[in-house]
Amino acid sequence: MSTIFQKIIGREIPADIIHEDEVCISIMDIEPQAPFHALIIPKKLIARVSLADETDQQILGHLLLTARKVAQDHNLEQGFRIIINNGNDGGETVPHLHVHLLGGRKLSWPPG
Ligand code: AMP
Repeated sequence: MSTIFQKIIGREIPADIIHEDEVCISIMDIEPQAPFHALIIPKKLIARVSLADETDQQILGHLLLTARKVAQDHNLEQGFRIIINNGNDGGETVPHLHVHLLGGRKLSWPPG
């Protein structure tokens, strides 16, 4: 069974796609938690960071560099936050690795 993000990558369901390359896709989050909230998602299905391995090193680095590019493209020069939720206690709801990129307001710390 495909994850919802695989369906978006395969254009089976629509999304607001703001970046795509050979390794990943970036979409606007459907339930934004900040004025700007995007997700950066690898095309390879890696369920979560804890299930990535050494062969995923380039992909993992690419996701962070893409988050940086998306932040630059969307003028988040005041700052931004990158989050990866991992597993049940981490708040992961979609079992397909994704990087949250939030910005556009002062974010509080610590997160809940
Ligand atoms: P997480 O809770 O870390 O697994 O994050 C999953 C994120 O995916 C949540 O912020 C959801 O709002 C977002 N999401 C779920 N379905 C979609 C969708 N169809 N399009 C865009 N974002 C989605």
